[in-house]
Amino acid sequence: MSNTKAYAAQSATSPLAPWSFERRAPKPHDVQIEILYCGVCHSDLHTARNEWGGTIYPNVPGHEIVGRVTAIGDHVKKFKVGDLAAIGCLVDSCRECDNCKEGLEQYCSNGSVGTYNSQEKDGSGITYGGYSKSIVAHEDFVLTISDKLPLEAVAPLLCAGITTYSPLRHWKIGKGHKVAVLGLGGLGHMGVKLAASMGADVTMLSHTASKQKDAERLGAHHFVLTSDAEQVKAVTKTFDFILDTVSAEHDYNVYLNMLKTDGVMVCVGAPPAPAKVPAFNLILNRRSLAGSLIGGLPETQEMLDYCAAHNIVSDVEVINIKDINDAYERMLKGDVRYRFVIDMSTL
Ligand SMILES: [Zn+2]
Ligand SMILES: [Zn+2]
Repeated sequence: MSNTKAYAAQSATSPLAPWSFERRAPKPHDVQIEILYCGVCHSDLHTARNEWGGTIYPNVPGHEIVGRVTAIGDHVKKFKVGDLAAIGCLVDSCRECDNCKEGLEQYCSNGSVGTYNSQEKDGSGITYGGYSKSIVAHEDFVLTISDKLPLEAVAPLLCAGITTYSPLRHWKIGKGHKVAVLGLGGLGHMGVKLAASMGADVTMLSHTASKQKDAERLGAHHFVLTSDAEQVKAVTKTFDFILDTVSAEHDYNVYLNMLKTDGVMVCVGAPPAPAKVPAFNLILNRRSLAGSLIGGLPETQEMLDYCAAHNIVSDVEVINIKDINDAYERMLKGDVRYRFVIDMSTL
């Protein structure tokens, strides 16, 4: 066991503050990582404040983790001490169900183990995330990363990157596709970069006119201001695929109407209230409304390798961990371009 410094929420209403806990010593297949950077995901805030229910306190959030291997178990093959390594949203799953066997651990039928706020499979307790000095996980759930990219900007790939990469790959987006990305935040900015890199014709859908320049810099070919009824009307039935990254309440029908025949809209943001979608908005033009959750381990590694080969990283603002509570407030106002990342040397 090793005592590990961290930042934790002690209740739904208390700010994150210093705390420490015991990490297990590496078991034969475990990798121990000194965390260098951890991205700040909206799920961290939802969980710390118990907005989805089920938060177990103290809660240490963080599932966009990059760092360096400091110890390995006797049977570890993939890593040696000193290697760069990363951990995303999952640290374990049953490994036996059909989904796990296919590398879709995020859909594990027996429940995958999240990097924080999950029960460990061996009953040893609750998982604590990346707002901490170190982490220990089975090597199957530890990813390799390139030393060619800036580490702090790689961290958000572990959640924001894979969340947008996986649906683009699943629906085989590429050259000749007209793709729209709804919402320019942590997820949306990765969606634009990735879709553009795959050769799609990319349109940014945003209600903030000032984001047009950024959208173009990130790789969007077109910009539609969604508060302008004329601009919205002009893109009726024009897209093959819409990646909806918005987690605030919004009317899905406005965007479904932008899909061509056989078009697909995939939700990766989770608004608090159920959506109202008349069946006819799907029946006419044979449209699909779908969802997608992060990605499995093989695909997450594929995404990291793809980003290294294509020089794709997240746009980040690096913060000191003592500023995490301010960062949450700024994130709620959309005041970040486009992902906060904690420099863990400040802990
Ligand atoms: Zn996340
Ligand atoms: Zn499983």
